[in-house]
Amino acid sequence: MRDPEPSRGRVVVPGGDNGPVPYRRQLYRDDAVVLRVQKLGESDRIITLLTRRHGRVRAVARGVRRTTSRYGARLEPFGHVDLQLAGDPQRPGAGLQAIAQVEGIDLYGKHFLADYPRYTAASAVAETAERLTPVEQEPALRIFQLSLGALRALAAGEHAGTLVLDAYLLRAMGVAGWAPALTECAVCGTGGRHRAFSVPAGGAVCGDCRPPGAAHPAPATIDLMAALTSGDWRVADAAEGATRRECSGLVAAHLQWHLERGLRSLPLVDRGTPPPDGGVQ
Ligand SMILES: [Zn+2]
Repeated sequence: MRDPEPSRGRVVVPGGDNGPVPYRRQLYRDDAVVLRVQKLGESDRIITLLTRRHGRVRAVARGVRRTTSRYGARLEPFGHVDLQLAGDPQRPGAGLQAIAQVEGIDLYGKHFLADYPRYTAASAVAETAERLTPVEQEPALRIFQLSLGALRALAAGEHAGTLVLDAYLLRAMGVAGWAPALTECAVCGTGGRHRAFSVPAGGAVCGDCRPPGAAHPAPATIDLMAALTSGDWRVADAAEGATRRECSGLVAAHLQWHLERGLRSLPLVDRGTPPPDGGVQ
């Protein structure tokens, strides 16, 4: 049967992924962050991408593991890339897309190769982004922007990697709708800085609402969490090591409470001694 409306950039794949009925594969363009790369056979890879306009997409890259491939280096984890994809951008769950072309915009991954703490922080950003976008091809612009910004900040190295990661996690939890309460009681809403913090209750809690087992972080820790949430880097960069570590512990506990299971990469993040300059430029 002839195609009634032939158009450039559209190809019909006979017997597509979803059964015997042919469907259209359309070429479309987007930019994306590379979240994950998995081997597929001898020379192919499945790339998990968080795109700007089409949400999380899984796409096959053919031949990238050949030494002659022009694409391989551009599809390493954590890179910001410009892509031409083949698939159905309008049909969530249409299955694997295919990468037709890729150009590197900023290949942040190369900055983390010799820096294990930043590599693990970038891994935690990528894994969180994937976990917070459970439905493929559902637009997630804010998570895309936050993830790209976090990877860019990790590559720039202007702030300590753990601070960049915790700022990302706090803001991403805000997008997901479960940011910890910091400036009011999580239970009754009474404003002010409260001394107790309860992950099950939803964050800082006042003396009346404090459940058994609530933590009592240092006031500076709650201040750091608030500074990271609002982007007050002057306060965040000045935080001491013990404050940063307590903040990271509360952020991780809050995140893991809300995700069904813990992030694999989070325990690997080096939260030890901050760099001698405290990460401040
Ligand atoms: Zn209360």
